Amino acid sequence: MEQNKTRSFIQYFRRRYKFWTLILAAFLMCLDYLIMLNLTHNQLSFSHMMYIPIVLLGSILGSVYGLVGGIVAGLLAGYFMPYNLLTGEPQYWVDWVFRMSMMATVGLISGLLSRSAKKVRDHMSNVLFHDPNSRLHNINYLRSLNLEVSQSYLTCTLFLGNQETIVDVNGYESYYMYLNMIDDGLKKIYPKIEIILAAPNQVWMIVQQENKEQFIADMLQILFAANILPDCELFVDYAFGISSQKHFKDSDKTKYFIQSDLAAREALAHHITYMTYIDLKTNKQFEYELLSEFTRALSNGQIYMVYQPIIDLKTSKAKALEALIRWEHPIKKMIRPDQFIPAVENTSMIHDMTLQVFDWVLKYATRLLKEKIIMKVSINISTKNLYDERFFPKMIEVFNKYQIKPHNVELEITETVLMDKPEISKRVLERFATFGFRIAIDDFGKGYSSLAYLAQFPINVIKIDRIFTSKILINPATQAIVKATIDLAKQLGYEVLTEGVEDIETADMLTRMGCNSAQGYFYMRPRREDDILEYLRNNR
Ligand code: C2E
Ligand code: CA
Ligand code: CA
Repeated sequence: MEQNKTRSFIQYFRRRYKFWTLILAAFLMCLDYLIMLNLTHNQLSFSHMMYIPIVLLGSILGSVYGLVGGIVAGLLAGYFMPYNLLTGEPQYWVDWVFRMSMMATVGLISGLLSRSAKKVRDHMSNVLFHDPNSRLHNINYLRSLNLEVSQSYLTCTLFLGNQETIVDVNGYESYYMYLNMIDDGLKKIYPKIEIILAAPNQVWMIVQQENKEQFIADMLQILFAANILPDCELFVDYAFGISSQKHFKDSDKTKYFIQSDLAAREALAHHITYMTYIDLKTNKQFEYELLSEFTRALSNGQIYMVYQPIIDLKTSKAKALEALIRWEHPIKKMIRPDQFIPAVENTSMIHDMTLQVFDWVLKYATRLLKEKIIMKVSINISTKNLYDERFFPKMIEVFNKYQIKPHNVELEITETVLMDKPEISKRVLERFATFGFRIAIDDFGKGYSSLAYLAQFPINVIKIDRIFTSKILINPATQAIVKATIDLAKQLGYEVLTEGVEDIETADMLTRMGCNSAQGYFYMRPRREDDILEYLRNNR
């Protein structure tokens, strides 16, 4: 409360300082004049007191005020001040004019001196508070800020993931120009926003704003436009994080930036444009709850497998089944695999999960075999499984419990595995292949690997990702890419499977293109064991 009062008093004085300086100077001059008038002797020596308001005027309001103040003071202490107060005898004019000119000169000089002192101060603070290259404010500036408390503020961290590459490819100047475009764009919408360059690839913002959604929309628009510079276009891999405070405390600024940093880092890691700290906290909590229940869910029937048939396009009959995991949570209901697998992958539970999946799938394949249905089964293997050398023997141990032929088991691996750690992946895949398992590259085309690159790995099947399948009818370029991929893959000896077929037109086109097999909602959605068995019995 007390602090607020002091702050508002300072702010009031800052706004009206000219007026109050004039009042104070006028008061001091009048006081001095009255003192002089009431002295009976030697009153002129008190004219020196006039220098106080004169210097005050000159140094605070500038040299013109100093000069005028000097003249006024000179007249009060000269023309309007008798030499003899009793007789009223005036001063000799040369005396008071000389004194007045001295006073005017002091007023003028103090104005000039204070102006150059201000210039030096401005220059110093410029150097101290700005990044020398981008001209954006730096951390020192943030420390010097004293923002109003008890207001709603947003802090935002913008991370430029590929800052070094931009600098290498486009040069420093382009990068700074990009930062300035963001700075200018934001200041046009939010004139009071504070923008700070915290690190070469990290920008902090702080703005008084309640509407988070509006700020996010503005940020997206500015970032969308900022990468187009007059002479080049930048590719910027950015992400931002937002933290909002209803009851902002200036002393907690850095804490708020830690929150927006965390959110931005998470967004960047997941290749999404932005994330709020609240979402991050909710996600982490959700993830934590899932992980703590995961092991139990794996054994109490909440987690189970569904199967989706893979159709041979020549015969139109199912030739394999892809096993897909499901988690039906009593409270959270159906949890999608992409909601829990990434979290599980960060723990050693991913090995237990895959081994359990493997066991369930082989058991189901055995059940099918008893019905004289020989069906290949396809299992998704996580990147983390492959990178652990102890995984292979454990898998074989599970496999040996059943009488399934290895070539009826297909392991699906995404291409990113082979891109990130090619040596270790190659070693592990060769062990799998030597054992007799078939290997499929899942989601092909989503990453950046080429068929030529994949040729070094022991691969049997290429599964073209469903983002291509969904566009094949409407986009001639996608059609050409898929056709070329099928042709080349077949020449290299791979079988080609297309995922995500949802209609007969796509299925027909893929058949014409020479694709070997297909999978998708058009044929069948993933279903539970009994339903699939029923379907297979009827489609022998
Ligand atoms: P994926 O391996 O690419 O699996 C195919 C996904 O596409 C499945 O989603 C499937 O339900 C869905 N799908 C199939 N046909 C169509 C279609 O015509 N249209 C559309 N829009 N989608 C279709 P699901 O079951 O949600 O699985 C998502 C991902 O989770 C899988 O992608 C896979 O990467 C992972 N996953 C699922 N089960 C397992 C598992 O047992 N182990 C591991 N490591 N990952 C798994
Ligand atoms: Ca798959
Ligand atoms: Ca896939």
